[in-house]
Amino acid sequence: MTSTVGHGKLIVLSGPSGSGKSTVIDRVLATGDLPVRRSVSVTTRPPRPGERDGVHYYFWTAEQFETALRNGEFLEWAEIHGHRYGTLRREVERHWQEGCWVLLEIDVQGARQIHTLFPDAVTIFLRAPDMAEYERRLRQRGTENETSLQRRLEAIQRELAESHHYQYQLVNCKLDETVVELRRLLEKIISQSSPIQKGG
Ligand code: 5GP
Repeated sequence: MTSTVGHGKLIVLSGPSGSGKSTVIDRVLATGDLPVRRSVSVTTRPPRPGERDGVHYYFWTAEQFETALRNGEFLEWAEIHGHRYGTLRREVERHWQEGCWVLLEIDVQGARQIHTLFPDAVTIFLRAPDMAEYERRLRQRGTENETSLQRRLEAIQRELAESHHYQYQLVNCKLDETVVELRRLLEKIISQSSPIQKGG
């Protein structure tokens, strides 16, 4: 895989569905005082209630995704729960041009691709305290039917098995505390940084 992307700073945050990634990230970045921007991904899955195009995801058709894939527009992509998800190169470059770090909220498959392209990308894994908590959170969210929920619970086990590849581990027991922890971690990462180089 070749990359047209120049130097920049990347943070990968992964964690199974129900870890609370989006909530924690939204809370940490809401104040806007950290030089970190979340990359909005493309997905072919339909929007959930309250999700907006261009804010939570770019909601594309399978055809649009396929065309962009053929044109090399994705930095990484993966098929998850029967839908495709991908990070657009131009989305990341846009934030790098502003001098910001880019935070990718992506799954373990995408994280592997990013690690190959950018070995110096910082990786963080966020998990719920235990499996029962995942099921409780997914049911409470109420966005999945039973088949989809069972599929997600199986995927969670597979993702947890990959967590040791990540540099930092966070356990989301209490939301307020996790927000503080992630914020501190990002501040530490930023303060220790020098621009990373692309590899691969
Ligand atoms: P959800 O459908 O619950 O929003 O997301 C399902 C999974 O897709 C989550 O693990 C999320 O991190 C992952 N995901 C979201 N965007 C991307 C992306 O651009 N690339 C990859 N590889 N995974 C993504």
